[in-house]
Amino acid sequence: MEDKIKKARDAIAKAYKIIVFTGAGISKESGVPTFREAGGLWEEFKAEDFATPEAFSRRPKEVWEWYRFRRDLARKVEPNPGHYAVARLEDARSDFMVATQNIDNLHTRAGSRNVIELHGNIMHSYCMKCGLLADESEAELPGEVPVCPREGCGGVMRPKVVWFGEQLDPDDLDRSYMFASEADCCLVIGTSGFVYPAAQIPFLAKRNDACVIEINPEPSGITQIADYFLQGPAAQITPQLLEENKYADGAD
Ligand SMILES: [Zn+2]
Repeated sequence: MEDKIKKARDAIAKAYKIIVFTGAGISKESGVPTFREAGGLWEEFKAEDFATPEAFSRRPKEVWEWYRFRRDLARKVEPNPGHYAVARLEDARSDFMVATQNIDNLHTRAGSRNVIELHGNIMHSYCMKCGLLADESEAELPGEVPVCPREGCGGVMRPKVVWFGEQLDPDDLDRSYMFASEADCCLVIGTSGFVYPAAQIPFLAKRNDACVIEINPEPSGITQIADYFLQGPAAQITPQLLEENKYADGAD
């Protein structure tokens, strides 16, 4: 394992363009509870009862209530050493992107800047009429079903997350695909690699001969193309891999 980590670290040090592709596994040690684990009022519901466009058009008030509850859960947890290690690597590199499937906002809170949130961000909302985006500073807009703050719009705001049956934002997908296709290093952290189309990212990087480094507790759909499979929890292995890296762009 030590030897593999060292080789993977060398590959990162030599890389010019790095994409980090993450999923639920990187947030696991932060202890983001699922709404069911958190118990209480929502215990008996399934995500499918709320996270669909149909649910929102039928019961917008309940859906908003549920999302406010989940935002509170997300605010109570902190980024873990895995998120911080990724953010510090970005600090030292000029050509760097995080493409995450998580909606928990933890990469941004850890200091990552060039983040594509493929499935949205639970702290953000947007107007269904004019598209106005409300970020975290305005996360709690007034009203049980918040209305667009833009004067004269009157549109209904909805959480900026990808719901069941919805497509990923094509611009986000294009940008991450493009970046992956040009990357010479792809770090895959805490994702099974089975949820498409996002899971295409490491395969696109591999097609460009990128070095693919995977950190996961178990082999995944990506392990077959990984140059280095580092088995273990993301919060432990990621800092171990990145802390001793020389960080500088293209360093030999
Ligand atoms: Zn609007």
